Amino acid sequence: MRPLSRAAILAVGSELLTPSRIDTNSLFITEQLNLLGIDVVFKGVVGDDRDELATAARAALGRVDLVICSGGLGPTDDDLTREVVAAVLNRPLVEDQAIVDRIEARFASRGMRMPEINRRQAMVPAGARVLANENGTAPGLWLDEGDRVVVLLPGPPREMQPMLTRVMRERLQARSAGGALVRRIVRITGRTESHTEEAVRPLYEPWARAPVPISATILAALGQIELHVTARAAARGEAEAALDAAVRQVAAALGHDAYSVDGRSLEQVVGDLLVERGWRIAVAESCTGGLVTSRLTDVAGSSRYVDRGIVAYANEAKVELLGVPHPLLEEHGAVSEPVAVAMAAGIRTRARVDVGIGVTGIAGPGGGSPAKPVGTVAIAASTASATRSRVCRFIGEREPIKFQAAQAALDMVRRMLSEAGGPGGSGGPSGGPKGPPLRR
Ligand code: AMP
Ligand code: MG
Repeated sequence: MRPLSRAAILAVGSELLTPSRIDTNSLFITEQLNLLGIDVVFKGVVGDDRDELATAARAALGRVDLVICSGGLGPTDDDLTREVVAAVLNRPLVEDQAIVDRIEARFASRGMRMPEINRRQAMVPAGARVLANENGTAPGLWLDEGDRVVVLLPGPPREMQPMLTRVMRERLQARSAGGALVRRIVRITGRTESHTEEAVRPLYEPWARAPVPISATILAALGQIELHVTARAAARGEAEAALDAAVRQVAAALGHDAYSVDGRSLEQVVGDLLVERGWRIAVAESCTGGLVTSRLTDVAGSSRYVDRGIVAYANEAKVELLGVPHPLLEEHGAVSEPVAVAMAAGIRTRARVDVGIGVTGIAGPGGGSPAKPVGTVAIAASTASATRSRVCRFIGEREPIKFQAAQAALDMVRRMLSEAGGPGGSGGPSGGPKGPPLRR
């Protein structure tokens, strides 16, 4: 039999077509299938509608050799997946007494009688194999259709996930080519999507022609760019080895702009750099309201290097808690590079730590001026031997501006620590960071 290599996913449920619910099942299913080297080439969300579901199921069956549906296996009238798939495959539905018994026992164990409508869940397309549901009443179904396979899974994630994991181990593994599809994410700051593409594009062609072929996609996220690198190989180890080499090439092409090739977040990378030097950090924040400190402390073990964070919103707070000189605030305004520098240096000396961060800006929607529009944020990092600072102009609403400001502040510290060499290094040169500004 031909191994299964191309899959489609159909998420069934009218609630998934409303603004309040999102289809997360397909993400889990994709991740699992990729582990077996099965590519998801297409997916869709379909409401609880006979015609739409039949059309989508036919289209999927015409394009791939594995169709996985989730949802619509419940006992109520709007749960149509069983019936519609049976009709599309031209199979009668037959009652499976073993399923009836199991559902009856499940209700009995809770001291209840099985409602008659639950019999629907025991109606099985002829020839289907039943997949036990340990966490609910809806059994899953596996249907062989020539070389192709259709799998029906329940909608609730806590029922779907264990069922799929088991199907993978007990059935899909044997039916896949045994290969592996492995993905790594390279995270990048200080470059736009197109600048990133320009730098890494020369790698694409040799990657595509390599014995273990590698493909890449660039995604713009808030305050950073992600390069997703995927390898397909006969064995997982081979794919991992090819990716090791590929991400080394990416890192060489992007230099310090690539901050993580191993899934670590920016705050984790900063934390690791601080630990490496045995350094401690303190943060003075105005417009980010504690977000920089919050992100630093999202990392387990951050108490080793986070000393304190102070949210100094009012001018008096900047003077009183950080020692920012009054005349500086009057001359340059609270949102200015000199004030950010004074905040960073102030918190560093007051906390007696090795690195201080200062962030001050206008998150909006009010408070902007022609000279300092909404999104203007001054950021500084200070060590005993070096100071860096810059003024950024971020675009967007209040929350994304705050996030980008925190991102830029963490990135400034990261560059300062990683560009200055190993432990005990003298810190970077004073002045702005390398590369174009973070904003896109
Ligand atoms: P159903 O099997 O259609 O009765 O699904 C019942 C419940 O499972 C829904 O109300 C959702 O909360 C959840 N669910 C169904 N499909 C999905 C999906 N694709 N992603 C996440 N949750 C889902
Ligand atoms: Mg449903």
